[in-house]
Amino acid sequence: MAERLETESRKLLGRLRDAMAGEDAGQARLNKITHLIATSMGCEVCSIYLFRDDETLELCATEGLNPGAVHETRMRLGEGLVGRVAKQRIVINTPNAPQARGFRYMPETGEEIFSSFLGVPIQRIGESLGVLVVQSKTAREYSADEVYALEVVAMVLAEMTELGAFVGEGAAMSARHSQPVLLRGIVAQEGVAEGHVWLHEPRVVVSNPIADDPVKEEERLVEAVDHLRVGVDQMLSMAVGDKDQQQVLETYRMFANSKGWMRRMVDDIQSGLSAEAAVEKEQSLARARMSQSNDAYLRERLSDLDDLSNRLLRILTGQGSDTGAEMPADPILVARNIGPAELLEYGRGLKGIVLENGSVGSHAAIVARALAIPLVVHANRVTNDALNGDHIMVDGEQGIVHLRPDDSVATAFRDKIAMQAAAQERYSSIINEPAQALCGSVVSLHMNAGLMADLPSLGGSGAEGVGLFRTELQFLVRNKMPRRSELSALYARVLDAAGDKRVVFRTLDIGSDKVLPYMKPNDEPNPALGWRAIRVGLDKPGVMRMQLQALIRAANGRPLTVMFPFIAQLEEFRAARREVDKAMAREEKLGHRLPAKLEVGAMLETPSLAYASRALFEEVEFLSVGGNDLKQFFFAADRENERVRRRYDTLNVSFLSFLERIVERCTESNTPLSFCGEDAGRPVEALCFAAIGFRSLSMRPASIGPVKSLLRRCNLDEVRDVIAQATDRGEMSVRAAVMDYVRGQHHT
Ligand code: PEP
Ligand code: MG
Repeated sequence: MAERLETESRKLLGRLRDAMAGEDAGQARLNKITHLIATSMGCEVCSIYLFRDDETLELCATEGLNPGAVHETRMRLGEGLVGRVAKQRIVINTPNAPQARGFRYMPETGEEIFSSFLGVPIQRIGESLGVLVVQSKTAREYSADEVYALEVVAMVLAEMTELGAFVGEGAAMSARHSQPVLLRGIVAQEGVAEGHVWLHEPRVVVSNPIADDPVKEEERLVEAVDHLRVGVDQMLSMAVGDKDQQQVLETYRMFANSKGWMRRMVDDIQSGLSAEAAVEKEQSLARARMSQSNDAYLRERLSDLDDLSNRLLRILTGQGSDTGAEMPADPILVARNIGPAELLEYGRGLKGIVLENGSVGSHAAIVARALAIPLVVHANRVTNDALNGDHIMVDGEQGIVHLRPDDSVATAFRDKIAMQAAAQERYSSIINEPAQALCGSVVSLHMNAGLMADLPSLGGSGAEGVGLFRTELQFLVRNKMPRRSELSALYARVLDAAGDKRVVFRTLDIGSDKVLPYMKPNDEPNPALGWRAIRVGLDKPGVMRMQLQALIRAANGRPLTVMFPFIAQLEEFRAARREVDKAMAREEKLGHRLPAKLEVGAMLETPSLAYASRALFEEVEFLSVGGNDLKQFFFAADRENERVRRRYDTLNVSFLSFLERIVERCTESNTPLSFCGEDAGRPVEALCFAAIGFRSLSMRPASIGPVKSLLRRCNLDEVRDVIAQATDRGEMSVRAAVMDYVRGQHHT
């Protein structure tokens, strides 16, 4: 870049900084800035447009256009040249604006007399804040250096906007981070919560975007990049054996060593930015490209660069994950994504969780469910919009998040919380009552668990026992394989906590989406249909044997119930059963006490098992329908893919009649049957399952009250008729008919 221009740019930034340091209120500052830019760049016009809301830009300050248009002229995103710059996050540089595509004449500004137009987006780490424009009478295209200089200024403006420099008297604009925001996501764990934002990875705040001494800034940058490289190399040496992670880290290393990236940041520093502002400027550009690109590969690489830039910013600002901020008393965790182990570290102290990515079937969701913390996933942009300490309300019933809600929203939301509390109160009055329907049939309700932390709910929830204990959670939340003695101690504590209530321990169910950090990952094209659960257990029996031993020792003479996941054919159950028998014999030989009673069952999670020979139904001591998996295979719809998962209703007549067939077969062979997928915890679904003959359901603890309450108000024979009639009428799902029936029951 030309030396003269660099000096010019530095001078302009220096003046900008002085303007910011003054006592002026927001509007006066903005006015001063437009004046400074116009004079420094030798243009007649300089204007700043900022977002008023997500869709509207407003002229907030101008030098050269009609001052009366300030705060009057507005345009929609995409409208006119300014709107296009903001929407596409591109630079528009044209010598003849009135002839340019998309030009929109706005008489109130008097701008038709200006021929050349240069507009650059004002953005901060990919978040669009507005547009900075210069215009001149003479028809000329601005030079590359001028464009660059304006981009640097725009970057500084973005930083200042973020710091709230333009708020206040004169109301130039209200800071983006002080406005209420409503985000729509997807429910991963029901419940409602009010609290204050706690960012898992706090936003880095750059308070010094402008720097005087480029030599010193460059040194700081070089030092930080060195630090970053060492860190990446270290991570690489630790990732041996994990191909995916290695690939990502190799990309990191490539970026960290990239000359182009470094050169651009050094150029930014030369033009007057501080080292951190330079990193952020490049990060913003990468994010803007990311949002525009349709190429998945490129997007992924840009996202790697984004992550790397974040690390670099943390090194430069010294703002690690510990920014010194104090966790609020009622924290609602906000993160792009989070692993199950990290989530467990936060534990039950969290009131709610909002994730920008995440998925309903993820480990984090399973943990959130186990901890009964409301969780909304796919809340787009939440990590951009939320600041530590912001007031936030999470509606885990509808998947809505209110950030900095205004009073009316907050009041309505609190009413909703109060209503839920009242309902809980009602449920607690029937805690010790049976789930007996009006027809006299009794359904036994159990809870699903997976963590020690779940057990205290056993007493309070009204559950008769633990119908599904997901043992893999203990494996997932560690970074190394647990030892047998640890497992046995843990299972013993689970049995102690359960007292005389039955606990169904499901043996390790890994593979598919449940990947152990310390086990070699298996590259499979379709992991949900791949080497998982009992298939791993039987092929590599070491872990399963250890687990069975740990269970027998934990029982220490008490009754023990073991269930094998994902049994698809009789032989798999027989092989698994043989492992149990061998483990019993071995333990007996070693002098350990054997369980007083041993029950061994299987999960029915693949349609094949429903059609197994009668021998299977006779050999298992019980069956439990794993509806989450069974449904995904029945409809051929990935349980983790929100798009397809939601297309198929559990109350679809095909699925219900399939379940009914399973009930029949179990009745014929006298095999105890239960249902333990998530659907068992949804009251209307639970009612239908009971109506078609399930007499045992296992669900998350918080669902027991609502399910029991509904069952007690309904007559299962009547529901059965409703289902049959809806099916005869050719309805695809019985939901509407059953809901009608349920509504009728409220009035009786
Ligand atoms: C199921 O598949 O329904 C089930 C209970 O098991 P998981 O959700 O752990 O796969
Ligand atoms: Mg399953």
